Amino acid sequence: MENNQQKMMNILFSNKKNMFFYWNCVKDFWQVFGDYISKMNSEKSNPLKALMEEELILPEDRNVFQAYLFQIEKGLEAGIPESSLEIQCHIKSREGYQWYSINCRFLKDEQNRIIEIAGFLEPMSAVEIMQKKQQVLLTMDRTPQVLAKAVREQFSKYPQEKFAFIQLDVERFKMINELYGDAFGTEVLGNILSTLKGICSKEQLYTRLSADLFLVVTRYKEEKELVEFIHYMEENLNHYKDVSYAIAFGVYLVSDKTMEIRHMADSAALARKSIKGNALQNIAFYSEDMKSVLYSRKFIEDNMKTALKEGQFVMYLQPKYSISENRIIGAEALVRWIHPEMGMIVPMNFIPVLEENGFIVKLDEYIWEQACATIRKWMDAKKVPVPISVNVSRVDLMSDKLLSILNELLEKYQIPKELLELEITETVQNINIGSAIRSLKEEGYTLLMDDFGSGASSLNTLKNTPFDVIKIDREFLNDFIESDRGQKIIAHTIHMTKDIGLDLIAEGVETKEQAMFLQDCGCNMAQGYYYAKPMALEEFNQLIL
Ligand code: C2E
Ligand code: CA
Ligand code: CA
Repeated sequence: MENNQQKMMNILFSNKKNMFFYWNCVKDFWQVFGDYISKMNSEKSNPLKALMEEELILPEDRNVFQAYLFQIEKGLEAGIPESSLEIQCHIKSREGYQWYSINCRFLKDEQNRIIEIAGFLEPMSAVEIMQKKQQVLLTMDRTPQVLAKAVREQFSKYPQEKFAFIQLDVERFKMINELYGDAFGTEVLGNILSTLKGICSKEQLYTRLSADLFLVVTRYKEEKELVEFIHYMEENLNHYKDVSYAIAFGVYLVSDKTMEIRHMADSAALARKSIKGNALQNIAFYSEDMKSVLYSRKFIEDNMKTALKEGQFVMYLQPKYSISENRIIGAEALVRWIHPEMGMIVPMNFIPVLEENGFIVKLDEYIWEQACATIRKWMDAKKVPVPISVNVSRVDLMSDKLLSILNELLEKYQIPKELLELEITETVQNINIGSAIRSLKEEGYTLLMDDFGSGASSLNTLKNTPFDVIKIDREFLNDFIESDRGQKIIAHTIHMTKDIGLDLIAEGVETKEQAMFLQDCGCNMAQGYYYAKPMALEEFNQLIL
């Protein structure tokens, strides 16, 4: 103790300029603190009062500062795990508000109660503040792993009590970054972390999960109390007058404490995700029916890499027909996931997840390669090859490697460009995607506009379009063909499309009547169950024989 004291005193004297107090009577701590700051302003008023009321702390920083005081005060009575606490805020000096770093170090008794505090006040430049905050973000005091351990400890300490996992997400955080700059975004996150630190008691655990995601684990008695706590967090988490951001809270009430902590956190995440885009609601409780989503998403993400490596993704081919000649003129490559235990999984059940996590880029490249290899085999066997069209996801279009990937595949398998066609659902409305599509066109690829007639695409998109072929959407065809008016719309769409020099193919053709109708309207290409379902390559090879 003597030594420690000695050390602090030394600092006091060697660093006179920035050190502002050392006091071994905790009660007077804030008095001294306020006193020092008032002196900077050469004011003689009550220092504590001044501190809180006379805007010695920049109003925008007051929440952070109060959370800081609050935490130290709590530590005085109940103990505090940290040996020092630091925040950064603007403090008024003679030159106006300036960034300061306040660092308090604690000397504690056996019960972890603070008995002495040494405080440092250090002026900082904005750049230093930035670096500090980034550091705080990188070196959180609790990593998710440490948190999991702490949660287990709490579970065994309070076996009878109820626990909740709360995930916090700063909504549209990307937008905050874009509008105000990354530095400000980092500041927001730093403030959230230090506010959580201030709000949470010693037994309420918190951590930062990733960029703008945080997790709090707390005990509760009633749900009402939990909601109140969330509202309290919410009120304290918005520091800025002019910048408002919403925080979404996903809550998981622990029902089985033996479950893996990771799954509990996942459940809170799932509840939080269910809020996305709902402006009227920012708290959601986990419910069982969210679970099937969790398991399938988890299943996909846990298994996708192995699946690709082990060839579980298989290219199926669905033939395209000439209606008038009733013969195969091409094929569309459609992926199937043949899982050793789950059996066949259709694209609808996994492609959206892969598009979200980016893995679709790898899968698509794999399928494109299968298509190229198949065409090569047909050519080697001296069969007349038919073109294969492959699907190109919007995620592929956002990658700047797309063109080189495709070119290299054609080069590797020595295939003429006409034989690998590209199906794209996106229109050119989005500027970046539009230019990607145009460069594919300039490179000489045949482009098919997938799902024409469904939602996004419109007649307007046909003006100056780089697409060569319009693919009439299955649902559009099936809906519209039901009524006279609908039939007229299909007929005129076909006429107009042909009139401006584009080719047409209809997908999802299920009956002879549909095929005949399309032919009458001038659309001579069709794909659908009426002709053939998507099939494995061997089967397709049999068919074209
Ligand atoms: P899509 O590109 O619109 O493909 C046509 C879908 O309609 C296929 O579903 C096909 O099996 C189905 N279909 C064809 N004819 C008929 C019919 O007569 N009746 C009915 N009811 N359905 C028919 P599938 O294979 O389940 O694929 C669904 C979607 O998944 C595709 O829609 C495409 O957007 C995506 N997809 C499939 N394979 C790939 C791939 O390798 N890469 C990417 N990025 N997306 C793919
Ligand atoms: Ca397609
Ligand atoms: Ca389609």
